[in-house]
Amino acid sequence: MPDTKPILLLPERVWTASEDALRTRWAVLVAGNRITAAGPADRIDAPPDAERIELPGRTLLPGLMDLHSHLFLHPYNRTSWDDQVLKESEAYRTVRAVTHARDTLQAGFTTLRDLGTEGAGYADVALKRAIDEGMIEGPRLFVAGRAIVATGSYGPAARNYRPDCCPPQGAEEASGIEEIVRAVRHQASHGADWIKVYADYRTGPNGETRPTFSEDELRALVDTAHDTGRPVSAHAASDEGMRRAVVAGVDTIEHGYGGSDATFALMAKNGVAFLPTLTAPEAIGEYFFGYVEGKTEPTAQMRLAEQGFCTALKHGVTIGCGSDVGVFAHGTNQRELAWMVRLGLTPAQVLLAATSINAKILGKQDLGEIRENFLADVIAVTGDPVQDIAAVKNVTFVMKNGRIHRRP
Ligand SMILES: [Zn+2]
Repeated sequence: MPDTKPILLLPERVWTASEDALRTRWAVLVAGNRITAAGPADRIDAPPDAERIELPGRTLLPGLMDLHSHLFLHPYNRTSWDDQVLKESEAYRTVRAVTHARDTLQAGFTTLRDLGTEGAGYADVALKRAIDEGMIEGPRLFVAGRAIVATGSYGPAARNYRPDCCPPQGAEEASGIEEIVRAVRHQASHGADWIKVYADYRTGPNGETRPTFSEDELRALVDTAHDTGRPVSAHAASDEGMRRAVVAGVDTIEHGYGGSDATFALMAKNGVAFLPTLTAPEAIGEYFFGYVEGKTEPTAQMRLAEQGFCTALKHGVTIGCGSDVGVFAHGTNQRELAWMVRLGLTPAQVLLAATSINAKILGKQDLGEIRENFLADVIAVTGDPVQDIAAVKNVTFVMKNGRIHRRP
C-alpha cells in the first residue's frame, strides 16, 4: 500500500451498522486501508495533513455487499444463458466481467461473493487478482470458481442438443463420493474461496426441480470443503434439496423458494444463513412473462420467492443480501434491497443485511461497519437511506480499502 495522506470524511449523517441511530455532526478518519476514528467531529483529532472531504446532504455508510453475484453473466433477455455459455469465449466473458466489476463498485457495492463463473473456468480467480493488484477497479471478491453440479443435471441441458453432442457445462460435473471429493480439492487448489454446490436443479421428467446429490454425497462435499477451511454455498430451490444441504452442513442456502416451515426452522437451529435472491425471478418475469412492477400480477415464481423469504423471516433465519445479479444488470444490485423492504423489513434491517450481517456470513470480523480498526470500505449516498431505501441508488462517493473510487 503506497503512502497516502489520511482522509477526513465530513458527511451530513453517518450510519455505522453497529448501532441503530443515524449520527449527525460526525466525522470518519481513514489512514491507509483502515478506519482509525469515527465519532463526533469535534472530538476527532485529524492530522494537519489530512485531506478533508465535505459530503453535505450525504449519508455515509459501510460499503454495500451482495453475496450472490455472477460477474461472468449478463442479462438473459439480451443473450440467453445457453448462448453465453456456448458461444462466448472465456476471453470475451472476462473482458465483460471487468466492466461489470467496475459498474458494481461505482454503484457502492464494495464486496461481492461471486458464486460461479458459469462455464468460464477460474477466470474469477484471475479477475480477483487483477482487482487486488489495483490493475482494474472492482469490489472485494470472494469467488467460487467453477462450482459443482451432479452429472447431467445442469446446463446447457443435454436434452436440448443432439444426443452425440456433449455441450460444455456451466459448472464442474461430479458423481459419487470419490469424484466429489476430488472436485472440491481441485477447486480449492485453483483458488475458490467458497465451494458452491447445486443441491437441486430442473432435472425432473417435465423440468421439475429435483434434488441432484444424495445426502451422503453432500456430506462428503461439505466435510472436504470444511477440511480445507472453505465454507459451502448451496443452490437449493426445492424443500428436499434445501433439507439435504442443511443436514449435510452447508453454510448458506441460495434461493430457497420452495422451503417449508420445518426446513427453515432447521436452518435457524443450525445457523445456516439464507440469501433470498428475490430480484432474479422478478427479472425473469420481466424478460419472459411480461411482468411490469405495479401494473401486472407477480409471476408464480415471484410469489414462491416471497413465500420463502417470509417463512425464513418467521423462523428467525439469518438473512443476508444476495441478489443473483448477472441475471439482471450489474450495478443495479440495489434492486434486492428494495425488494426486502417491499416484503416487510425496515430499511435499517435491510442495510444491516447488506453490510454487517453479510460480513458475518463471510466470516470477516473487520468489515461491514463504520468502526475504528475496520477496513475502510465506505460509501456516501444523497439523502437518508434509513428513511427511504431508494437513496442507495444515489451513490456519490465510494471508498474501498482506503482508496477513493468515486467522488461527488
Ligand atoms: Zn446464482
